[in-house]
Amino acid sequence: MSANRRTDTGPEVILRSALHRRGHRFRKDLLIALEGGRVRPDIVFSRARIAVFVDGCFWHRCPEHASDPKTNAAYWAAKFHRNVRRDRETDDLLGASGWSVIRIWEHEVADVDHAVARVEGAMRAASSG
Ligand SMILES: [Zn+2]
Repeated sequence: MSANRRTDTGPEVILRSALHRRGHRFRKDLLIALEGGRVRPDIVFSRARIAVFVDGCFWHRCPEHASDPKTNAAYWAAKFHRNVRRDRETDDLLGASGWSVIRIWEHEVADVDHAVARVEGAMRAASSG
């Protein structure tokens, strides 16, 4: 795991900036220790217990934009499978500890208002629950 490790990639930065402009305050890349493992969401609202991940369309297999490299097909298939499985495990870990998980596709950030609305919707749900 190196190519899709935590770095300030474009979509994450764009979403964080938009959330910040709307007055939201959050932690970025906060390491959360949970029973069963540790996770590092892209954006964390600690008090509301909301974890936001911005998932790259290629690495995380967006249904609209996932593409299959033609060379080393088996290698890539295994790698993608691991990525998707780890995403689900991460969701399960967070969910089991009472966190809400929002996953936003890289391509959704192109319409950043839509992406912000998804996060705000989760915040409303968390505060009313
Ligand atoms: Zn996509």
